[in-house]
Amino acid sequence: MSRSMPVPSSAVSRRMARTRGKDNPRERELRSALHRQGLRFRIHYAIPGTKRSIDIAFTKWRLAVFCDGCFWHGCPIHATTPKTNQEWWKDKIATNKARDLDTDSRLTSAGWQVLRIWEHVTVDDAIALIRSQLQQISAREPARAQRANER
Ligand SMILES: [Zn+2]
Repeated sequence: MSRSMPVPSSAVSRRMARTRGKDNPRERELRSALHRQGLRFRIHYAIPGTKRSIDIAFTKWRLAVFCDGCFWHGCPIHATTPKTNQEWWKDKIATNKARDLDTDSRLTSAGWQVLRIWEHVTVDDAIALIRSQLQQISAREPARAQRANER
């Protein structure tokens, strides 16, 4: 099958339009809930040496949170391959997953913790995950917790 024929069906195009952007509704919902809870973070925080960015970055804690769309990032529960151009899509999503792994290893080597949250996780569960990570980091690194509080 040729790779030069990526003409997505209209249903797929709509899904792309809906989930592709950096500011998908699900992510915005999570950010405002975090903000309401008094948590402070940066968004679209640039990752040095790449054109990528961290969706939600707790810079003082070096916790990088990504909101991964089930379709684009190949969620093991909801990953579906569009019926047309299957090979092209499989390849595309495999490329995305490889990029995610590379992003994770870059961040990890720079001392960050990476938390990837699937789109299908509820906002409440996502917040619980983030809070538990922040707690673990502050328990492990009290000095960092101190600096974060001083801010
Ligand atoms: Zn999913």
